[in-house]
Amino acid sequence: MTEKIKIVTLGCEKNLVDSEIMSGLIHERGYSLVEDKEDATVIIVNTCGFIDAAKEESVNTILDLAELKETANLKALIVSGCLTQRYKEQLMDEMPEIDGIVGTGDFDKINDIVDEALRGSKPILVGNPVFNYEQKLPRKVSTPRFTTYVKIAEGCDNACTFCSIPIMRGKFRSRSMESIIAEVEELAAQGVKEVSLIAQDSTNYGTDLYDQFMLPTLMNRISEVPGIEWVRLHYAYPGFFTDELIDAIADNPKICKYIDMPLQHSEDAVLKRMRRPGRQRDTRELVAKIRARIPNVSLRTSLIVGFPGETDQDFENLCEFVKDIKFDRLGVFTYSSEEGTPATRLPDHLDEEVKEFRANTLMEIQRQISNEVSGKHIGQVLDVLVERYEGRNDVYVGRSQYDAPEIDGEVFITDCKVGIGEIAKVRITHAFEFDLSGEGVS
Ligand code: SF4
Repeated sequence: MTEKIKIVTLGCEKNLVDSEIMSGLIHERGYSLVEDKEDATVIIVNTCGFIDAAKEESVNTILDLAELKETANLKALIVSGCLTQRYKEQLMDEMPEIDGIVGTGDFDKINDIVDEALRGSKPILVGNPVFNYEQKLPRKVSTPRFTTYVKIAEGCDNACTFCSIPIMRGKFRSRSMESIIAEVEELAAQGVKEVSLIAQDSTNYGTDLYDQFMLPTLMNRISEVPGIEWVRLHYAYPGFFTDELIDAIADNPKICKYIDMPLQHSEDAVLKRMRRPGRQRDTRELVAKIRARIPNVSLRTSLIVGFPGETDQDFENLCEFVKDIKFDRLGVFTYSSEEGTPATRLPDHLDEEVKEFRANTLMEIQRQISNEVSGKHIGQVLDVLVERYEGRNDVYVGRSQYDAPEIDGEVFITDCKVGIGEIAKVRITHAFEFDLSGEGVS
């Protein structure tokens, strides 16, 4: 009987792409992929190990799924992803439920791990994360057929003091431009219209392979692939945000006027202890330059509150900074003391209650800003990628170029003139905290 394999993906889109490659390899080997965990004889949990909450979710998921060995058909439980890179020994020692472990740089050998795990040899394959996939690897895309993520690089050299990603994903390494373009051509041939570019640090693309920042060139080349309508940028590092990149986004109609650029904080003293690039003056100048050159840009950022030594005044200033800049989208995280990162050794760690209070306060400020900034689209005719049919009142739902999949807002469309997976022209009539609504024009 052919083994039935289910992959459970936790964490970020970069993990999702790794899962899709494992699916492609497993499918190519002739195993069958199943959606229902009750049917699975093998389950692979692709874990996240970024912060405490994510680690907890990964461990709980492994324990929950292990019960299927008693209650269903499960023969082997395999753990992959970031948690393995940090805790391979502890995982195998403390969780006898686990039958095999594969690291973030070894998942291309998933079929061997499955075979070994089924033989009961408890394989552990967690090497230095130096792997960098090229297009020749099969990938079973799991996102809707018209949108997908493309990983352009892996790892990170920036060494922010709070971050464990370099431990789990290794040194920064770009994929070759040829491999990325070849993959995008394959995806476009399958009907993909929107490509979201992801990496730990997208803006550093090319400096290792081509000795220069090549992201603008890459984005322009991807936009020339027949069938591709939207190219979206995620995980921009403010230290590498060049004028050429601003020009490429401004001048190329197929590059979304959307920038996801984590800033982490606004206060110079905190930024210094975080080992983040630039200072508040630089951030303000960069945001002003971007908005001057791309007036309708949608700016997303993420901030950390409760970093060791963050004073009441630092936090008040951060709130004023957010009120002043008015980001279109904001993610707020509480500082998580991560083993093996320099920030754990800093003095003045804050209580969890203080961190939670500051996170809630900042999100409340952003809620008011969201209401204000989303209103700017009323009366405009926006291109909207139609994603689903809502049914009620014959409403379709989609996203404009100002909203990324899964993390941002949506557009509710009445009288939609095109089908799912197509781009509709929609006149915006109403704006809500995160979403918009409007009528189909064409
Ligand atoms: S740039 Fe991002 S991934 Fe790299 S160390 Fe800093 S926070 Fe981590």
